[in-house]
Amino acid sequence: MNDTIQSSYDVVVVGAGFGGTAAAHYTARHGLSTLVIERAENIGEKIISGLTIPIYGFLFGPGFIRDGAPPVERPVDGIINYIVIDIDRGDIAIDDTLRVPKPLAPIFAFGYNAYCADFCQWQADEAARVGATIISGMVVSDLIIEDGVVRGVVLEDGRTITAKIVINAEGSQGLLSVKAGIRKKYPPRVISLADTYDYAMDKQDVDRIFGHSIRFLWGWDEQDLAPPLGYGNGLMVWPYGKSLHFMQDQCLAKDDGTVQNLKKRFETYHENVTGKLLWWKDDVEDKTELRAHTWQCFEIFVGLDDELREMPLFTGGMLIIGDAAGLESTELCDGVPSAWFSADIAGRVATEAIEAGDVSGEFLSRYDREIRNHPIIAWSITAPHRYLLRHAQESHDEKLLKKYVHNGWGFEALAHTVVPLTLVFLRVLRQDPRIMTSWVRMYFRYYRHWHHTFSADSSNPGKSLRDHEDQTIGEYIFSFLMWWTDLLLFVFWPFLWLMSYLLVPLVHLTKWTAGFFVWLYEPLWVRLLKWLDAKAVGLTDALTRFAANANPDIFSAKKRREP
Ligand SMILES: Cc1cc2nc3c(=O)[nH]c(=O)nc-3n(C[C@H](O)[C@H](O)[C@H](O)COP(=O)(O)OP(=O)(O)OC[C@H]3O[C@@H](n4cnc5c(N)ncnc54)[C@H](O)[C@@H]3O)c2cc1C
Repeated sequence: MNDTIQSSYDVVVVGAGFGGTAAAHYTARHGLSTLVIERAENIGEKIISGLTIPIYGFLFGPGFIRDGAPPVERPVDGIINYIVIDIDRGDIAIDDTLRVPKPLAPIFAFGYNAYCADFCQWQADEAARVGATIISGMVVSDLIIEDGVVRGVVLEDGRTITAKIVINAEGSQGLLSVKAGIRKKYPPRVISLADTYDYAMDKQDVDRIFGHSIRFLWGWDEQDLAPPLGYGNGLMVWPYGKSLHFMQDQCLAKDDGTVQNLKKRFETYHENVTGKLLWWKDDVEDKTELRAHTWQCFEIFVGLDDELREMPLFTGGMLIIGDAAGLESTELCDGVPSAWFSADIAGRVATEAIEAGDVSGEFLSRYDREIRNHPIIAWSITAPHRYLLRHAQESHDEKLLKKYVHNGWGFEALAHTVVPLTLVFLRVLRQDPRIMTSWVRMYFRYYRHWHHTFSADSSNPGKSLRDHEDQTIGEYIFSFLMWWTDLLLFVFWPFLWLMSYLLVPLVHLTKWTAGFFVWLYEPLWVRLLKWLDAKAVGLTDALTRFAANANPDIFSAKKRREP
């Protein structure tokens, strides 16, 4: 396969992770000859085994992912935070206020859990389908730089490949941008080391014990149950289709430069938490079988480091995307949405630059500006709540601990995210309001695909379970609603376009008011959640049955103009 590489391409992408394959899809789809070079033998295997991709990545990210059927392991409907005050006394507070209410959940998911290898391979296949060449098992060891402009890459075997533009998507461990002299190596205090256990578990057990929620655990440092507050996560448990991840992470160094023996610390946390946490001990432990134990780094606090945040994301002939650009979120450590957003922007800017015959730094600086002006990226790399947890520890203030957890991973997180999410929503509404029906179809398609992948008969995920060809009333209503909504959105497009501009100042105002009035609407929200939990069970079942059994054609993506 490697013999088929040409000596020159329009675009060479370094790294076939979430960002690289998405950028390659963009440039290949726009007719540019595109080569992706991945160092791992198997695509996705060097990232992390699995993760939760938040919904805003799917809603506002690359169209081919939204309109496709990627391999998701489980729709996620929310977070359950366990705030451990004293584990020996069983004093554990629960904050599960950040979740999608029934009957919307689990179809209208809050995010999707996925294994990186499967997901990135799917993205790579999609990029190859539109013409990109993907090679794996090959390391890019250097850049070709002439007169300060990147002109291509050097492979580990010494071969050189020239490119009009290099898209650097080499992730958090990459050094090519450092070699190009535009970025600095990430210091140990912004890098977190994650320790992940992958357990096999019966789907029925995962469904019954975890449902569709991910679980976080936070606790005082001296309890040794989880990494120190503010220097890492507590414990995260992610449910997948037929498996479970147990993940904890801690920064390589503390602010004072202290470096700990993390292997030893992680073993202690793992032992303590699995030995003392009742739901793990009683419900989970004997139903799981350890399949793998992995270690991975990510650049969690780059966005909070003023110097690193200011460093350029481009130079003549090269654009840096995703983790390589330090775009991982400081709160949830989610970096996939920003990798996707930056991939789309880089793909577009690279296409424009090549069309204009100008790959100079001056031309490519528009990429940097767009990234910095992207409301979700800007928010996600500067959100401080996870970092602030260290103050809760210093003062050992229980109220403060609960407050920061609630701000970052409870209902109040919505008050902080409402502005960036709405601003991006208004942008996409301006381009084509019918994206809203694409989202509805996506939710149903993803749920259906997931259901059939992990149901008893998983041999054909696209198969309909119906034994007749006639359209059911539910299918008729769904198609009718989608058709009419599309038509109305199209007719009112000029009005929505105008509103998308007029509402911007109001949305900015929400930044101040949303947090202020939380005390008023949060109790109402919590009551509503409880009420719906009890009352909406039947409707939730009906919706999931409909999603699983309907003719898959009605959930297919409709053709829309993509930018
Ligand atoms: C423990 C952990 C938990 C995480 N949890 C989440 C989560 O829950 N949600 C979320 O959204 N994100 C999460 N992330 C972050 C997410 O994995 C990254 O933000 C995302 O993968 C970034 O995409 P990327 O394309 O920039 O880089 P990556 O996906 O890391 O891809 C980089 C690719 O480049 C390849 N590469 C590197 N150097 C070279 C080279 N010289 N030559 C050729 N190939 C090279 C690598 O092998 C890799 O495949 C987590 C990360 C970790 C480590």
